[in-house]
Amino acid sequence: MKSIYDLNYEQMEQMVLDRGWKKYRGNQIFQWLYRKRALHFDEMSDLSLQMKEELQKEFRMEPLKILSRQISNDGTRKYLFELADGSSIETVLMVYNYGNCVCVTSQVGCNMGCKFCASGLLKKQRDLTSGEMVQQILEVQKDLDESGQRVSHIVVMGTGEPFDNYDNVLNFCKTVNHDRGLAIGARHITISTCGLVDGIRRFADEQVQYNLAISLHAPNDVLRNEIMPVNRAYPISELMDALRYYTSKNNRRLSFEYILLKGKNDSEECARQLAELTRGFDVFINLIPYNQVDEHGFVTVDDKGAMRFYDRLMKLNARCTLRQKHGVDIDAACGQLRAKYERGKSN
Ligand code: SAH
Repeated sequence: MKSIYDLNYEQMEQMVLDRGWKKYRGNQIFQWLYRKRALHFDEMSDLSLQMKEELQKEFRMEPLKILSRQISNDGTRKYLFELADGSSIETVLMVYNYGNCVCVTSQVGCNMGCKFCASGLLKKQRDLTSGEMVQQILEVQKDLDESGQRVSHIVVMGTGEPFDNYDNVLNFCKTVNHDRGLAIGARHITISTCGLVDGIRRFADEQVQYNLAISLHAPNDVLRNEIMPVNRAYPISELMDALRYYTSKNNRRLSFEYILLKGKNDSEECARQLAELTRGFDVFINLIPYNQVDEHGFVTVDDKGAMRFYDRLMKLNARCTLRQKHGVDIDAACGQLRAKYERGKSN
């Protein structure tokens, strides 16, 4: 059965029209779901009993089940949800001075196989539906409602490769962005990809205002092939071509994610190559402290090393920031909590 959360605003209107109801009914249902955060069709008091019964027969609406919720000292909240088919996924809320940012999971497991990432420990089982992504936001929002706060930012940086689930991810963005619902600004939504070139080109052609982030992590093909297998299909030169196309079509912000792995990608030469790659590009480099994943053997660069790399980039006139760690005390690295949970189940 389809979930009511799979329908974006226009699809909701079409659905009610298809039933022979007035178009404004679509708006009413959308308001109940996203403004009033109703938990059941029964609550939709401006619909007739017959309408509510029809909806209930046709659509699922049950909330995601919370398997666990951890709260860090710095305000980070990490949720482990169970989906209707029993799969588990992680969602993280990070609290910044500019707002509340939710990190959304886009697939159950991931097939990209990045060597440093905990998500890839569990292969992809399936794509998430648009509704399952919408519900991650909704669950966190319901939690924040208790203190009168709202989700203001979204990053599609949880487990999964968003451009390997392109249509559902874009539909999800459309729903949470809609101003009759959660109204999360397009410029506050960031999609992160490991570099699926076809997806980047397709995304460039959309008339949307979302931000794009590229997980680069290595500034040359030898190293990138080693730590990110996707690079063998789409080497850096092809990636850069696609990004040039993107920036020619789109004036939105582009950023490179670069986790610092000690002795791997933190050399002076790497800094030089990285600065070279970004020359002439309107791009921002986010240096990210690596959340160590026990299984993988990579080591986090210490604060001093991170500062050194940052300084080198700045001297080379590359624009960059050094990101703070969040939720270090609660398994916040992508996929860590879920990997632990799934291991526990099979033990
Ligand atoms: N597949 C997408 C989105 C999910 S990964 C992508 O690759 O962009 C989101 C970000 O977290 C990526 O930049 C990824 O490389 C990074 N990441 C993965 N494991 C990490 C870890 N252990 N510590 C820090 N960042 C990590």
